[in-house]
Amino acid sequence: MIAIVENYKRILKYIERYNIEFSESTCFPQLIAVSKTFQKDKIQLIIDEGQRIFGENKVQEALLKWSDLKKVNKDIELHLIGPLQSNKVKDALEVFDVIQTIDREKIVKKIKQHLELKKKKLQFFIQVNIGGEPQKNGLKISELSDFLDWCNKDMNFPINGLMCIPPLNEEPSYFFNVLKNLCKKYNLKEASMGMTGDFPKAIQYGATYLRIGSAIFGQRN
Ligand SMILES: *Cc1c(COP(=O)(O)O)cnc(C)c1O
Repeated sequence: MIAIVENYKRILKYIERYNIEFSESTCFPQLIAVSKTFQKDKIQLIIDEGQRIFGENKVQEALLKWSDLKKVNKDIELHLIGPLQSNKVKDALEVFDVIQTIDREKIVKKIKQHLELKKKKLQFFIQVNIGGEPQKNGLKISELSDFLDWCNKDMNFPINGLMCIPPLNEEPSYFFNVLKNLCKKYNLKEASMGMTGDFPKAIQYGATYLRIGSAIFGQRN
């Protein structure tokens, strides 16, 4: 239990140090503590240390854990970083504040339907299939321009940023650089990139959100 708090503090220090050394961007990247598979007692440990931004990859699991946690701990910002099915949209909008995995028109239309009823201010990122991998989720780079146009003009659906997961076992720098340049090209503020294995590089290339799980909470089963 203690280890989680120590890990957390160490990661915060790393981020600060790497940021000062490398980042070209002026803004400090924010840490998303990825708490998937970990129970509420573990999560509470770093809420108590001041962490407010968390990530989950499953809607049902997030509802179970965070409905309570959000009631007791105000100003939590919860990010969905896993795929979103259209039949889970209503639940997702209930519990999440940021949806990072927008990747098709159908899901935008569905969100719009439910959004009208909501007062909550939500943010939306597009997941980009940055390595063009057939088995991975996300929009192709070549589809991004038209999709953003459609969101803005046809749907009046503001997109705040992009997220990516680079191909496994490849040097991630190239892909982080591509994502950051896409953000600049399309004037999108947020770049969500970098995980336990590669976050220092993501800072170097201007990530605004890092998604870090196992370096804080330990190995997942
Ligand atoms: C699980 C997950 C993470 C965190 O991974 P770690 O390697 O444990 O830091 C980040 N992003 C996404 C999309 C994930 O599913």
